[in-house]
Amino acid sequence: MKTDSQYDVLVVGGGNAALCAAISARTAGARVLVFEVAPRAFRGGNSRHTRNLRCMHERPEDVLTGAYPFTEYWDDLIQVTGGDTNETLARITLEESANCREWMMRHGVRFQPALGGTLHLSRTNAFFLGGGKALLNAYYRTAETLGVEIEYDAEVQALDIREGRFHSATVRRNGECMEVSAASLVAAAGGFQGNLDWLREIWGEAADNFIIRGTPYDTGTILRALQGRGAETVGDPAQCHAIAVDARAPRFDGGIVTRVDSVSLGIVVNREGVRFYDEGEDFWPKRYAIWGRLIASQPGQIAYSIIDSKSMGLFLPPLYPPIEAGSLAELARELSLDEATLERTIVEFNAAVRGGAFDHTVLDECGTEGLRPAKSHWARPLDRPPFLAYPLRPGITFTYMGVAVNERAQVLMENKEPADNVFAAGEIMAGNILGKGYLAGIGMTIGTVFGRIAGREAACRVLS
Ligand SMILES: Cc1cc2nc3c(=O)[nH]c(=O)nc-3n(C[C@H](O)[C@H](O)[C@H](O)COP(=O)(O)OP(=O)(O)OC[C@H]3O[C@@H](n4cnc5c(N)ncnc54)[C@H](O)[C@@H]3O)c2cc1C
Repeated sequence: MKTDSQYDVLVVGGGNAALCAAISARTAGARVLVFEVAPRAFRGGNSRHTRNLRCMHERPEDVLTGAYPFTEYWDDLIQVTGGDTNETLARITLEESANCREWMMRHGVRFQPALGGTLHLSRTNAFFLGGGKALLNAYYRTAETLGVEIEYDAEVQALDIREGRFHSATVRRNGECMEVSAASLVAAAGGFQGNLDWLREIWGEAADNFIIRGTPYDTGTILRALQGRGAETVGDPAQCHAIAVDARAPRFDGGIVTRVDSVSLGIVVNREGVRFYDEGEDFWPKRYAIWGRLIASQPGQIAYSIIDSKSMGLFLPPLYPPIEAGSLAELARELSLDEATLERTIVEFNAAVRGGAFDHTVLDECGTEGLRPAKSHWARPLDRPPFLAYPLRPGITFTYMGVAVNERAQVLMENKEPADNVFAAGEIMAGNILGKGYLAGIGMTIGTVFGRIAGREAACRVLS
């Protein structure tokens, strides 16, 4: 590794956004160095857990069915964010999503038809053959072939940015710190969800019960460094994508298999044995991302999805087996819940269920009557043992707070002026587009679109 400014572009991060930036910058003719804090075997951040990206298209395209025009994509984004989005950057993301797949395939990524059980996404989302891990392996191979230099176990700890101009980065490698300068910087170091102390600052002790679904290496060091050097912050620190995961999942990196999809088929109770939200509010893919936050605000940040034998086989099988019991009393004991309360919750729920034709593929007529909170759809009495339960915890996918950027992916400083040679892509700037809410697959779209822009602009800044 050279330590003087023989590099045109320094990319911090080793996930999707970083690799898209590195490949774009190198293709534009720049000498590129990538610092990835993880060891090689764990390279790729959260991106290695992904399965698909959401892209606009006017007609069926190999793995994508039907059409997903701009207006529909736009409406979907406005609906989930409640309009809390930078419209210029959102428009760029959606428009550029149309040409992502061609670029990705040119750089080694392959696609496959949507998997069974996720057919509702086959129109909007393109699935990576072999998942995010295969995508990253392809990108790393391409980057290396193009001549991008990649350093693993290389943590960038500080950035020397003065008056909006990047000079050098302090990187720790093999126990030693060194200064590395480059003409431009691309910050693509993900969110800060891997930093439990930072989560605790925001959520208090509740954070001790959070499970981080992805990499432990996204600690927000670069976000903090940029903020400390005058970059403008976007997004609420408490906003994050959080779903219900099995409470038995590992603290980090459990990935997609720890997700529990049974919620809409039964009821969810907290540790007091009472329900706290409408489990059948909307289709599971639309509502699944609210459950992490809901559980985060329950006592002890624990909840239990309870179903009966009628629902087995109707949802994606989770990694861990359910806790099974022949009676409600036994189930309460297994879950260490108060027997009388749990029984009362279920008896009241069963009594409130109004009949109808159960159909999990539509918003059916099986709701409850006179129950608070109601269950709007797919309500069936829990009356056919064995009873089954999955313990749930908040599973944090990623945080939203990041740095403000412009349409060239330049980081904006607090005085609203763009930094001269500092660019950002991926999760670290996704809060510009996702003020709140989430659309499945848009994380990878934002990273691909802005990774390419950041790499190209960082190279241009040097070479023009
Ligand atoms: C289980 C799971 C499933 C998901 N599925 C999907 C999906 O199917 N589709 C989708 O669109 N999104 C999905 N997401 C979200 C998606 O992972 C992110 O939106 C996307 O990967 C972000 O890419 P990124 O490059 O910004 O961050 P990451 O991929 O997290 O990359 C950040 C990189 O920065 C490195 N880094 C951090 N700090 C430093 C430092 N100080 N010095 C050097 N390197 C550093 C990290 O090691 C990492 O390599 C999923 C997330 C999870 C956890």
